[in-house]
Amino acid sequence: MSEPIKTLPLVMEEPRGRRKPPRHLADLDEAGRKDLLTEMGLPGFRAKQLSNHYFGRLVHDPAEMTDLPAGQRAELVSALLPDLMTPIREQTADKGTTVKTLWRLFDGALVESVLMRYKDRATICISSQAGCGMACPFCATGAGGLQRNMSTAEIVHQVVVGARAMASGEVAGGPGRLSNVVFMGMGEPLANYKAVLGAVRRLTDPAPAGLGLSARHVTVSTVGLVPRIRQLADEGIPVTLALSLHAPDDELRNELVPINTRFSVAETVEAAYHYFATTGRRVSIEYALMRGINDQAWRADLLAEVLSADGRGTGWVHVNPIPLNAVPGSRFTRSREEDMDEFMRRLNERGISTTMRDTRGSDIDAACGQLAASAD
Ligand code: SAH
Repeated sequence: MSEPIKTLPLVMEEPRGRRKPPRHLADLDEAGRKDLLTEMGLPGFRAKQLSNHYFGRLVHDPAEMTDLPAGQRAELVSALLPDLMTPIREQTADKGTTVKTLWRLFDGALVESVLMRYKDRATICISSQAGCGMACPFCATGAGGLQRNMSTAEIVHQVVVGARAMASGEVAGGPGRLSNVVFMGMGEPLANYKAVLGAVRRLTDPAPAGLGLSARHVTVSTVGLVPRIRQLADEGIPVTLALSLHAPDDELRNELVPINTRFSVAETVEAAYHYFATTGRRVSIEYALMRGINDQAWRADLLAEVLSADGRGTGWVHVNPIPLNAVPGSRFTRSREEDMDEFMRRLNERGISTTMRDTRGSDIDAACGQLAASAD
């Protein structure tokens, strides 16, 4: 009996990262979209029409854009509305109010986004990189390393599709509005600065230039890339900054958030304070509570001290303790209730406001630190 002949794919896949994601109208500002069409010999005003569909009506399927002239349709679509990414799996939790989507990007890279509907708002948690290079040992995304940066349009598209799902009533609870965006999915947003900033602009520009979300309802979360925090402060867009601190001392933070060996706790907190001083936006501090690792009462005291040092006071900051979410193979476990309570009590006692982060979607691996984007 002969071996079955293996068929070779006709087109060999290029190595990842060699080709660029398709160019899409969400990559460009209004002038850029118009210029592009004009250069292609197409009428510039079509750019506004397409933008209206995409950002205003939240339509992204060209088949639904019935006002496009048949003769120019294919060219317009390939210029500004190429297929960007495909949703390959959707999982729901919390009675349909949490929806996690697994996306396949044009080159096969996988990312995830999570929509969370609450009584008074709906938030989408989006990815900015496929994988992540920051290597925090308690986070599932970090374990796989960085595959590549996402483009502005790939980042924005997660939000547009989420906004459409809310508007159309696909998400449990009936039609509603997507109000908040958090860059807390896969990746380190400030390590993909240019694309992320473009995305922030598209999200906050009024339609049809962008989605018209309020900048204060957009949160950029970072491990603490100090020069980038300072740069973001100077952009003049008052987004909320979240800093993943997780430890108040360099010895422990060097281990939990390895970038700390480049930028110390003191430098990082100072940059976060600078963000507040420049933008007037209160900074959120993320602190995943890990049993016996960073949840000691003395560390709560030290955290309060570090945040209010150098005469900064406590009004500039808000701490979000997060009960650690389970990550396969991790040696880290969640703190005990009583230790979490004591940790918060000590911060509050020292004048620091706190809100315990909820753990939406943990049963579908959609909670903080659980996004690994595997297709199996
Ligand atoms: N890279 C950015 C954006 C990711 S945000 C950043 O680190 O801020 C995801 C948040 O979830 C971060 O605060 C991260 O530290 C936290 N996180 C990671 N793993 C976690 C886990 N297992 N349980 C709870 N939070 C976790």
